[in-house]
Amino acid sequence: MSLLVIGSVAFDAIETPFGKTDKIIGGAATYISLSASYYKKPLNLVAVVGGDFPKSDIMLLQQHGVDTLGLQIKENEKSFFWAGKYHNDMNSRDTLVTELNVLGTFDPVIPEAYQDCKYLMLGNLAPKVQSTVINRLRKRPKLIVMDTMNFWMDIAYDDLMETLSMVDVLTINDEEARQLSKEYSLVKAAKKILAMGPKYLIIKKGEHGALLFNQEKVFFAPALPLEEVFDPTGAGDTFAGGFIGYIANHDDISFETMKNAIIYGSAMASFCVEKFGTERLINLSENQIARRVQDFIDLVQFEIKL
Ligand code: AMP
Repeated sequence: MSLLVIGSVAFDAIETPFGKTDKIIGGAATYISLSASYYKKPLNLVAVVGGDFPKSDIMLLQQHGVDTLGLQIKENEKSFFWAGKYHNDMNSRDTLVTELNVLGTFDPVIPEAYQDCKYLMLGNLAPKVQSTVINRLRKRPKLIVMDTMNFWMDIAYDDLMETLSMVDVLTINDEEARQLSKEYSLVKAAKKILAMGPKYLIIKKGEHGALLFNQEKVFFAPALPLEEVFDPTGAGDTFAGGFIGYIANHDDISFETMKNAIIYGSAMASFCVEKFGTERLINLSENQIARRVQDFIDLVQFEIKL
């Protein structure tokens, strides 16, 4: 079942209490694709980079089963650049720089071969670009999952509202859910956000796990307590990649499958934070992933007879 991923493919500069990187590869679609590639191959990518983006990193994506026919390379322009600095708690961060560069004028082109898209993952990008991709698909995908962030709530609120009305699942973090809904209680926030369009809402709470809501039900998945969190960048995107990859692989969009998908997404995110950037996502084995998922099962399994 074909999976199409869109989002930023970028250079990031990251500062955490444990160290600092120069420009390394990042971007929402990079993390999503690498993560989803462990469940779903091949997957199709629609994104844009500048001529400064290393060919070796494009090859890395290809080696993970990512089809890059839809990756535009603007030879004379610069790639999107984002810099962020984490606070000591590693759960909160400040964005230091957002240089849109090629993203500022991105016009997503969907190759003909991608038109049979059954699962669409709209990674973090301008909401207008996200809705353009939906509109350019001749047939509506079976499931559209969207991620976004406070940056777009601040500068493109109306576009964001329009895109929200077109998707099935929204993933955002707790701070963003509060900003979007103007509610502090996440339960009240979920009600308001579900009324904006999506049928499902996933609220990511960093080291405190994630919540899945629909109109009737709620499910909670913990985050694995890790001894060391090195760099949380991309954890949310890695989560989304594991989530959509699992669903596409099982070709099932029931609430029960979404619950499992959230556990797989959380397991992938737990790997992501263990090293800087995408490093930890590059060489995972099936065994390592299975053991990690088992850790999640063990963490929450208990028997109470009522
Ligand atoms: P996360 O830590 O999951 O929120 O994702 C971090 C990634 O999002 C980084 O690799 C950035 O390149 C990317 N990113 C940050 N700001 C934006 C933005 N405004 N639009 C698209 N991608 C972004």
